[in-house]
Amino acid sequence: MKLVSACLAGLNVRHDGSNKANEKVIKLVKAGEAKPVCPEQLAGFPTPREAREIKEGRVFTKSGEDLTEQMQKGAEEVLRMAKQLGVKEVIFKAKSPSCGKGRLYDGTFSGKLVEGNGIVADLLLKNGIKVLTEEELE
Ligand code: SF4
Repeated sequence: MKLVSACLAGLNVRHDGSNKANEKVIKLVKAGEAKPVCPEQLAGFPTPREAREIKEGRVFTKSGEDLTEQMQKGAEEVLRMAKQLGVKEVIFKAKSPSCGKGRLYDGTFSGKLVEGNGIVADLLLKNGIKVLTEEELE
């Protein structure tokens, strides 16, 4: 079983209420090989919600609210779920402050990218779970 970002599975869970449907991810879910999860919803944030980005290791909304602790709790929930389901690999949404891997927006809400992992992707990687983004799917 894999976990996949719910927005890639076509669910309207993004901060603006939209999704990022990816046909390959939807196929995996329909085949019963993957389970969609949105870490930010799991952390208790509503949809729609204010956009957030990571700056110097902490997560802030555009208006400056520090969401770091709540985001970390959500990440721990995802890790717990992954362990319970015996997940070895996840497919996550690139560039998200939760799900992204390798590259993220730089915290200035200007579209600039820097190196880094989303809060959840980082925790899963540290726990030996393979993280792919939709950009790495063949
Ligand atoms: S937290 Fe992850 S699953 Fe949820 S909307 Fe953002 S990128 Fe998609």
